[in-house]
Amino acid sequence: MSLVTISINNQTLRVEAGSSILQAARQGGFDIPTFCHADHLKPFTSCFICVVKVHGGRDMLVPACSTTVREGMIVTVEDPELDASRRMCIDLLLSDHCGDCQSPCQSACPANIDIEGFLALIQEGKTAEAAQRIREQAPFPGILGRICPRPCEEVCRRRRVDEPIAICSMKRHIADAELQQFGSPKLPPPGSLTGKRVAIVGAGPAGMSAAYYLRLQGHGVQVFEQHPAGGGMLRYGIPYYRLPEEVLKAEFDAVADLGVELRFGVRVGTDLAVKALEQDFDALILGIGAQGAVPLGIPGAELPGVWPGIAYLEAVAQRNPPELGDRVAVIGGGNTAIDCARTALREGKGRTQVSILYRRSRHEMPAEDAEIAEALHEGVRIEYLTAPQEILREGDRLILTLSRMELTAQDASGRCSPVPVPGSEYRVRVSAVLAALGQQVLPDLARDLGLETTRSGAVKTDPRTFQTGRPGIFACGDCQSGADTVVRAVGNGRKTAYSVHQYLSGLPLTGEPVLFNSSMGPLEDLDAELFAGYTQAERVRIPVIRDEERRTTDKEVETGVEPALAVKEAARCLSCGCDARKDCKLRRYATRYQGDQGRFGPPVSGKRRAYSLDESHEKIKIAVHKCINCGACVRACAEIKGLTVLTYINRGFTTRIHVPFGRSLVDTACDGCGECTKVCPTAGIMPRQAGTAL
Ligand code: FAD
Repeated sequence: MSLVTISINNQTLRVEAGSSILQAARQGGFDIPTFCHADHLKPFTSCFICVVKVHGGRDMLVPACSTTVREGMIVTVEDPELDASRRMCIDLLLSDHCGDCQSPCQSACPANIDIEGFLALIQEGKTAEAAQRIREQAPFPGILGRICPRPCEEVCRRRRVDEPIAICSMKRHIADAELQQFGSPKLPPPGSLTGKRVAIVGAGPAGMSAAYYLRLQGHGVQVFEQHPAGGGMLRYGIPYYRLPEEVLKAEFDAVADLGVELRFGVRVGTDLAVKALEQDFDALILGIGAQGAVPLGIPGAELPGVWPGIAYLEAVAQRNPPELGDRVAVIGGGNTAIDCARTALREGKGRTQVSILYRRSRHEMPAEDAEIAEALHEGVRIEYLTAPQEILREGDRLILTLSRMELTAQDASGRCSPVPVPGSEYRVRVSAVLAALGQQVLPDLARDLGLETTRSGAVKTDPRTFQTGRPGIFACGDCQSGADTVVRAVGNGRKTAYSVHQYLSGLPLTGEPVLFNSSMGPLEDLDAELFAGYTQAERVRIPVIRDEERRTTDKEVETGVEPALAVKEAARCLSCGCDARKDCKLRRYATRYQGDQGRFGPPVSGKRRAYSLDESHEKIKIAVHKCINCGACVRACAEIKGLTVLTYINRGFTTRIHVPFGRSLVDTACDGCGECTKVCPTAGIMPRQAGTAL
């Protein structure tokens, strides 16, 4: 064997004469990206992503797969210019690639839960495995399955056939089935101890999620919580009729049982200096939520009988509710306002009249549609375009002066502001007022630690690592994002744990890897053809308790789904994620080179590549919309089998790889050997048994 000496990125290598730069680079441990290349096929050089620089005379960009090494050759295979060239190549391919890497529901989930994956496991009757699948991203399926605002269902593709999958209720089903089967959530064991210790302030969903993932890594975790029990707003805000205490307790206790040390009744900053935690632990996480009620800010707001909504809900949660009387006005339009109203109704045992006063219209109301509908169903009244101006006390009544409001034209941000209609003031007599205008982050701990905060008071962190401006101090949940949702708090708790683990292990602090995701586009823009083959199937209806019970007790309103119905519901999933999402080269390199699908928009032909699936063959399917025209399949078929089953059709931007003369794969000599599928870098051509149709 004769050898030549070459240099790759300043590394001297002795490689076999006649080998390609690609082969030589691999020998030196360099990973040059390729799409059209396969070791057992002749080099083709169609994708140009493997370009490298050969120096000497004119520095040239050449394809590594088809350029042979020469004695003394000096090559660069990685540098910023090559990165830019590869990124350009990827962005062009992405602009003409039609498919979703992960399903839209997963992309829309702030915790990135593998929804398609757990729905598939429900279909197989594997609820215990489904629970584990959820816990890879979020440790509390029973909680999320009850109170998540379901951004996933908003984008569920099934909407285009009939109705979205009841994803949230499926999560609840999994958790309920697990509890029924094992008596408690089945968590994986903690990792072996690393000797590192992390302090977490706040036993809410963010802090406990971070605690869970840190224990799995083997780190010691101590959580400091001011309340006598964990849960944060899940326990002291969200009412029992939406989230029963035993569900919360089961899921939080399971995390504690992994060896998380919990110290209740300790208010950090008052009972214990936060700086002491900084000194005594290897890392510190703030998960303190947004505990402050946004003030009502009108004369009379401090009068007895006027309650901050969250203080009222906390008193009810602690089984010590104040007597509100027979007419309660709730001010605000978010979920807290709805929770206050529905709780006041229940506490009044059906004898209290409850009205929500909201200053904008129904259209702008931030509360979830389903929550608004439930409140109205139970008898809560909602007055829109109404705002309080003043409160006075007269004996045992509060006199509320209200104004009718009108909305201004949209401003630059697209928002309409509510302004009082002159002369529209009127008065109502009520027995109590609940002010539910939102929550804000209390500033004391950030101030004590010298941390930067945003204008709204949230702790500023790096958006990917969740590290504050001070090394080793992290923040997640509502105190970092501002008042938000449980699913975001839980997801960000997990991401924070990832970064803290990197920090404790002395690794570069990058945060959790974020994979590239190709998207077919918004739901409403998709071709009707995509959904034409599906038969309509009704979404499962979740049973609820009787109206009378709803109005007078704090029993959970929804009662859960029967196992057989859950399997049926899960089977409605269209499995939108890509078959190749775990081993797609386009996704891998788009992640590595930070590809941007929107950079070039649709290709110059003016049209996005259309969805086109050939499932005529029993063994192979061709997803023309996912093909990147690298031609590896054409060559595999020709070189290995001597056949021309596949070919290039058209020229220029409309080029497609498919069966010639407009026929289907089943009409060809294809024997289903699968050689083409082995070389496809995406999911353009795949074995038929791989699940998804989209
Ligand atoms: P929290 O849940 O607030 O937990 C923070 C914890 O830190 C608390 O236990 C607190 O006591 C503790 N703490 C704070 N300061 C200190 C200190 N100095 N020392 C020690 N401990 C401290 N989200 C949804 O997704 N769906 C819903 O239906 C929903 N409904 C809601 C209803 C209400 C009434 C409210 C108020 C919120 C609702 N949310 C809902 C929002 C959700 O509850 C929050 O986004 C979530 O709880 C945030 O989690 P967290 O861990 O960041 O903060």
